[in-house]
Amino acid sequence: MLFREEREAVAAAGREMCAAGLAVGTWGNISCRLPRENWLAITPSGMDYRSIAPEDIVILDLEGNVVDGRRKPSTEHPLHRAIYAARPDVGAVVHTHSVYATAMAAARADIPGIVEDLVQIVGGSVRVARYALPGTEELGRNAVEALEGRNGVLLANHGAVGAAPTLAQALTVCQIIEKSAHITIAARALGGAVELPQEDIDVMRQYFLNHYGQR
Ligand code: 13P
Ligand code: ZN
Repeated sequence: MLFREEREAVAAAGREMCAAGLAVGTWGNISCRLPRENWLAITPSGMDYRSIAPEDIVILDLEGNVVDGRRKPSTEHPLHRAIYAARPDVGAVVHTHSVYATAMAAARADIPGIVEDLVQIVGGSVRVARYALPGTEELGRNAVEALEGRNGVLLANHGAVGAAPTLAQALTVCQIIEKSAHITIAARALGGAVELPQEDIDVMRQYFLNHYGQR
């Protein structure tokens, strides 16, 4: 099988996404860039994450042609492909339907830069992309636009997307987006969420990118 290791990693990330409560049943989708120019490995459409095996993962080129695999690829492959085409720094994309992030997306309300982990990992506020139908090239274009300078974006009336160098990081982005959406809604119920100053957001983001953690 071509790219067995990467296919296993995408299938495992799907199980993790469900275990983390970020998606239910067959919803959401996951992909990673392959060590072969312009190819990606993506989850199959409408299959339960608990039953997805490595051979169910579909290999696509950046134009959306199936290179390998017997399943139908995720209907959101235009969204994933648009992000890889526009963002060479992105090695993995995770799309979720988590509850609080989707509530913000349905309200068409950005998640403001209000907490340290969000601004460090995502790069600031999480914008809501302009609305488009699921599965369309337009949704991909709108998501790329709102993703500028960030590792995450909300899809209006739909869900969230994390885009990062690795699958583990893209999953973390989605968890941080969900947590931050929850905090925003709770803080607003308490009278308002106070946004961090932009210069402090910049300091924290640079610290995360250049110094945080074990190096
Ligand atoms: P797929 O099952 O085709 O990946 O679609 C799920 C989804 O989240 C659509 O937006
Ligand atoms: Zn979706």
